[in-house]
Amino acid sequence: MVATPIGNLGDLSPRAIETLATADVIACEDTRRTRKLLSHAGVKAKVLMAVHGHNEAYQVRAILAHLDQGRRVALVSDAGTPGISDPGRRVVAAAGDAGHEVVVVPGPSAVIAALAASGLPSERFVFEGFLPRKGSDRAERLALIAAERRTTVIYEAPNRLRQTLEDLLEACGPARRVAVARELTKLHEEVWRGSLAAGAERLATGEARGEHVVVLDGAPEPVLAGDADIQDALLARYRAGDDKRAALPAVAAELHVPKRRVYQIALGLGDLGLGASGDPVEPQ
Ligand code: SAM
Repeated sequence: MVATPIGNLGDLSPRAIETLATADVIACEDTRRTRKLLSHAGVKAKVLMAVHGHNEAYQVRAILAHLDQGRRVALVSDAGTPGISDPGRRVVAAAGDAGHEVVVVPGPSAVIAALAASGLPSERFVFEGFLPRKGSDRAERLALIAAERRTTVIYEAPNRLRQTLEDLLEACGPARRVAVARELTKLHEEVWRGSLAAGAERLATGEARGEHVVVLDGAPEPVLAGDADIQDALLARYRAGDDKRAALPAVAAELHVPKRRVYQIALGLGDLGLGASGDPVEPQ
């Protein structure tokens, strides 16, 4: 598996060039595009075979046949790292299962480049690739992303970027930080950083151009409830007519605290807030 540039041909590593030059067969998404890359790298034309999203399952057998014959097959995609939102995963799994050695020649990948350039926390992150385009799949994914505490990286096509930022704004709220990395390693490279509200507004007029990665900050840590918050919530519920049996679990759920803690604070309150009959009364 050989990573190739995501824009700047200077990012093709010496090891990638050597691997392509010594492979017997090069499996690639688009043979014309890969020929251009090979010619840039000074690698002589080889046996090229097309392996793309529509034929990967089928082409796996042809690749295994080459490997069984002892040939070295280099797998590349149009740009970046094969297998990352690109064909390649099935080939790797099948070759591994058949006992062939799979070696990765790492290099450019838009997910890592955008994350690194975003300035957002990168100790732990989630890669979402392309979001589902519509329907309940998209709504559910957006809800999961909104609640996710880790930084999320999303690939997006230019004609869908505005809608995606608007949907993220609605799901995550206006203040959530976002970075939009555009045309990385290319002439019009740009990394925009700001709030979701500002990001969506920026795209409100006009269509985005070029390739984009959206990097979204994680959901903020919930503010931990203190004893006084729990007391206040309990008293508010008593006042609203709840008895202890109803108020305790409701407060635990509302403040994301264990029921046991609410119970202990309710004990401390005694009958404060509850009348002799268990009816709620105003606390003194
Ligand atoms: N395998 C590739 C990789 O390792 O990054 C990703 C291929 S995926 C089909 C293409 C998507 O990657 C684009 O829609 C865009 O979201 C992102 N992408 C690729 N090149 C990019 C670049 N130069 N700048 C920003 N995003 C890029």
